[in-house]
Amino acid sequence: MTISQGTSKKRKKGKKKKRGIEHIRPKKPFVNYHCLMCHEEEKIPYEVVREMDLMDGGDPITPPRFQCEKCNGEMVPEYYKGIYGTEYKLTDYL
Ligand SMILES: [Zn+2]
Repeated sequence: MTISQGTSKKRKKGKKKKRGIEHIRPKKPFVNYHCLMCHEEEKIPYEVVREMDLMDGGDPITPPRFQCEKCNGEMVPEYYKGIYGTEYKLTDYL
């Protein structure tokens, strides 16, 4: 009988790409998202939301939105301040 041992040393080679735009520090590490359909809540990392915002081109009307995993409904941020200073609040969508 052989017992497999996890003694092998694993080296992780981390390729880190540094970007020069990280001097702006987010105040909140997470953004609380609420599903408009089933009221599910999800915490999405601020960086992910901001990335979405950047890809969006900083649309001043609609915040970065995510799809609910439970009902595929639309999720909106509880509070999020966009990259151009636009504030989005959950109460705006209720
Ligand atoms: Zn939902």
